[in-house]
Amino acid sequence: MISGKAKCAGVVGWPVAHSLSPRLHNHWLRANGIDGAYIPLPIPQESLAHVLKGLRQAGFKGVNLTIPHKEAAFALAHRLDDAARAAGAVNLLIFHENGTLEGRNTDADGLAESLKAANVSLNGAPAVLLGAGGAARAAVLALDKIGAGEIRIVNRHADRAASLAVQLAPFVKAKLSAATDWPKAAADAKLLVNATSAGMKSQPALDLPLDPLPKDAAVCDLVYNPLETDLLARAAARGHKTVDGLGMLMHQAVPSFAAFYGVTPTVTPELRVELELALSK
Ligand code: NAP
Repeated sequence: MISGKAKCAGVVGWPVAHSLSPRLHNHWLRANGIDGAYIPLPIPQESLAHVLKGLRQAGFKGVNLTIPHKEAAFALAHRLDDAARAAGAVNLLIFHENGTLEGRNTDADGLAESLKAANVSLNGAPAVLLGAGGAARAAVLALDKIGAGEIRIVNRHADRAASLAVQLAPFVKAKLSAATDWPKAAADAKLLVNATSAGMKSQPALDLPLDPLPKDAAVCDLVYNPLETDLLARAAARGHKTVDGLGMLMHQAVPSFAAFYGVTPTVTPELRVELELALSK
């Protein structure tokens, strides 16, 4: 039941119909018996600033941002956390009562929490990260948080991996390097993370032999549609521990929900089942 005092928030994207965020937040609103609503907001790029102002005036607590708004929201925020600064993008804007917009990026914490929940920790060991786009930026911070001693970034266009390593070095303790020799990069790695879009529905699968990877290395794919990518299927067949992208998606939403509704929600098996069902449709 939504009363006249309901706390309101939503996700702004263009398009936004594919977003799982409304299902996720409404699951938690029901589970916690909160008088609140979370709605999809399809907003074209040129209208973002105007719409944010209107939502704030209408009493919204804040919004999540998805493609193509994450960089524009970064520019509009009055305050930013370190993760947003490192990413150059925000996925959460909190509307404060004094009129200021606080921008955060929760993807790095989401991935770190997902890996921790799967009992993946690095204790100074090296990890290999595939990709150099937005998700890879968050993954660098997440791998640092779970104790990577070194993060070797491998990307199709190697120059992008090199510039990512330089740009993010000030934000992390781990040694960052761009790697072009996959077998050498993989040789003593304890974790492989795919942050490329290869393997996504209607994209080609990741073209990468897993033989160089030690058997005790975990393999994590950020792609969550499909849930079991070709990479994860091949890794499981070789006996690697695997972590899919749904964990990150669920955990990255926790700080947003806490900021909008004042309750820290729990990532539960029931939530995963609901999202898996939505993905299967
Ligand atoms: P992006 O900024 O467009 O970056 C795409 C990356 O993938 C680039 O590094 C690109 O390499 C690489 N790539 C694309 N096709 C490739 C192929 N066929 N072979 C090898 N590399 C390829 O995208 P993004 O925002 O970082 O998103 C990447 C993936 O992460 C998406 O699947 C997205 O759904 C997923 N993601 C998941 C979560 C979650 O919560 N689980 C959160 C964020 C993102 P080049 O630089 O060489 O072009």
